[in-house]
Amino acid sequence: MGASSMSNPTSPRVALRGDLLDFTAAPAWGAVESNAVRFRADHWLPVEGGRIAGVQPGDQQPDDSWARHDHRGRLILPGFIDTHVHSPQLDVIASYGTELLDWLNTYTFPAERRYADPREAQTGAARFLDALLAHGTTSAVVFPTVHRVSVDALFAAAQERGMRLIAGKVLMDRHAPDGLRDDVDQAARDCVDLITRWHGRDRLAYAVTVRFAPTSTPAQLAMAGQLCTAYPAVYMQTHLAENRDEVAWVRELFPEARSYLDVYERAGLLNARGVFAHGIWLDDEDRRALRGAGAQIAHSPSSNLFLGSGLFDWRAAEAANVAVSVATDVGGGTSLSMLRTLGDAYKVQAMAGERLTAWKALHASTAGAAAALGLADEIGSLNAGCVADVCVWDWAMGPVAHRRMDVAQGLHERVFAWMTLADERNLVATWVAGVKRHERAA
Ligand SMILES: [Zn+2]
Repeated sequence: MGASSMSNPTSPRVALRGDLLDFTAAPAWGAVESNAVRFRADHWLPVEGGRIAGVQPGDQQPDDSWARHDHRGRLILPGFIDTHVHSPQLDVIASYGTELLDWLNTYTFPAERRYADPREAQTGAARFLDALLAHGTTSAVVFPTVHRVSVDALFAAAQERGMRLIAGKVLMDRHAPDGLRDDVDQAARDCVDLITRWHGRDRLAYAVTVRFAPTSTPAQLAMAGQLCTAYPAVYMQTHLAENRDEVAWVRELFPEARSYLDVYERAGLLNARGVFAHGIWLDDEDRRALRGAGAQIAHSPSSNLFLGSGLFDWRAAEAANVAVSVATDVGGGTSLSMLRTLGDAYKVQAMAGERLTAWKALHASTAGAAAALGLADEIGSLNAGCVADVCVWDWAMGPVAHRRMDVAQGLHERVFAWMTLADERNLVATWVAGVKRHERAA
């Protein structure tokens, strides 16, 4: 992006016209007819001061004081929320041939080491956030690297783009190569410094970021838990029960813990601000603990399939009332597109004989994620007063999708086909706080 579009422009009055789709509640599992779905065909979405000002029917055109963008016949959704993704891992997306623990050592750690260099961290952060916007994702919960400069670079780049972003310095003081390990005291100082400088600034929030239990000593986990207590408004993000070898390793390293999740709970890391990626190999007691704490699982189906990690039991999480959001987990995941990720989520559930509706999927990646993050008043819906993070999509690209749309019966069939066939090529424009931050090349 050029310097002019990077600056923080005062948001004029803008109005977008199209088919508006969002949710007023959580759709029930398996229900293709749902009162939670709010579909308003051909409406204007007026945006003032970066916030949604209301809606009005397509034939009631806002006056000339509004910059009108007529996307009649296109779909307008809240921007997607990717609740688990690694900014430095664009460099290792689509890497061949390994499962989680080998994949970390072979591909990921070498790529993350480059982010010790501030220039590498800055260009990487800009590339990553522009890529998110070009895939229709306007908010994310992100792992940069162990290096403090990687966090500064990511927050600064998000601030320039006006984005809602949650991130934190990765904590890792063992079982990682040279150049990627911190120690307890330095890490604590870095975290406090970063929280002080970034948490609550514009749309940025800090997350205490434990990579995963095996790469932190018990002393570091305890320090991370103390940070969560000392700064109750910050988030906590980590990985949980992704892969069977990983789970076995955690059992070896923490024999006193009842389960993998229990390692985190004992350290004071299980709370309502917690975002736990994967959560595949859990039992009912783990799910009860997650529910009791109000923590969420960031389900990452594309990554789980690609790394052969396992099939997430969404139905069991739903039955236990655990909040589930959806995440790309790039670079374990193979695309930053939440639509492709939702397509994979559907297939993972199909393997278990379950049916993931388009409503459940789209809710989990917009309003559901926002609610789980405590941000429902800001993002994830088209409610008046919410920040205008919205994306404009073509219903169909190419002859196959056009034909499918032509014969689709009813709203769910149409939206499900869109969710399954569409990807970033369908994205027409991305607006962040009422400012256009991405537009498809003509
Ligand atoms: Zn991850």
